[in-house]
Amino acid sequence: MSEKWYPVIDYEICKECGACFNKCKHEVYKKEGNRPVVVFPEGCVQGCKGCQSLCPSGAIQYVGDNGQTDNCACGCCNS
Ligand code: SF4
Ligand code: SF4
Repeated sequence: MSEKWYPVIDYEICKECGACFNKCKHEVYKKEGNRPVVVFPEGCVQGCKGCQSLCPSGAIQYVGDNGQTDNCACGCCNS
């Protein structure tokens, strides 16, 4: 788990599709209406880009992302 790697959503382009919320198994997100909100950034796994990879609008960036391509060790990206 990481405190220096977590998603930030650009609500200007988020389509509120729910894919990020549905993908994450670490309770990083909750929904306010249809809007995903990052409520537990500490739960985000260092190097995981599982939700970003599903975002249809490119609305998810990560704090701590320097362009590395690490994969999530917990496997939550793979299912
Ligand atoms: S990057 Fe992975 S662990 Fe972090 S919020 Fe997205 S799906 Fe969850
Ligand atoms: S996957 Fe992207 S477009 Fe869909 S709710 Fe999440 S941030 Fe918004």
